[in-house]
Amino acid sequence: MNAADDKTIVKEYFNSTGFDRWRRIYGDGEVNKVQLDIRNGHQQTVDKVLDWLKADDNLAGLSICDAGCGVGSLSIPLAEAGAKVYASDISEKMVEEGKQRASLTLKNPENLTFAVQDLETLSGSYHTVICLDVLIHYPQEKADAMISHLCSLAQSRIILSFAPKTCALTILKKIGSFFPGPSKATRAYLHREADVVKILEKNGFVVQRQSMTRTRFYFSRLLEAKRK
Ligand code: SAM
Repeated sequence: MNAADDKTIVKEYFNSTGFDRWRRIYGDGEVNKVQLDIRNGHQQTVDKVLDWLKADDNLAGLSICDAGCGVGSLSIPLAEAGAKVYASDISEKMVEEGKQRASLTLKNPENLTFAVQDLETLSGSYHTVICLDVLIHYPQEKADAMISHLCSLAQSRIILSFAPKTCALTILKKIGSFFPGPSKATRAYLHREADVVKILEKNGFVVQRQSMTRTRFYFSRLLEAKRK
């Protein structure tokens, strides 16, 4: 399968069955045990990013690009905390859901702009660029190009999460169970941390903070890298 196919499949998935599934996982309604585990794991990743950014104590007015924002799980609290957030996602349905959630909860909606956009077509310049749990949908070569593009948008900092390629078969099997269809596992890609760090360094960034969230069904390595 080539990368263009990956993108088409991902977009269609998050506009159909994937939308229904992930909208529930990223919500607070009733879900099954596996989905609850993934919800809790994902929330830990989101909370870690919020902790890092709030600890820096400069969120007010900070420009942030949330690439592959999903339903706004991170963008909404960042905007609430005063950041100016540009949130985009390849899936129209995810963005629509994000807009609706923001309109129900956000007291300062002017801080958050949503757009339907493939992250590789993003332009502009942001203090911080964030991309959480998106690279899992792409093979390393494609992920490299995406990371490089995201780096080109970041004035100061990039924050990425990915499923690390450790104990590959076990994890791949588990991650595979997140995806429907007979070839489940082929749609989730693991990335070697060394490869991600290498591409960040090639683009002039150095890892400063890192974290790992590991639950039964959710694995996410989080890296914050700053411009040298
Ligand atoms: N980052 C969000 C979060 O952590 O709550 C959502 C994570 S969800 C697992 C992956 C998201 O990436 C989906 O909403 C999907 O539509 C989006 N996505 C996948 N490929 C993308 C691309 N090329 N450009 C923009 N968004 C993309």
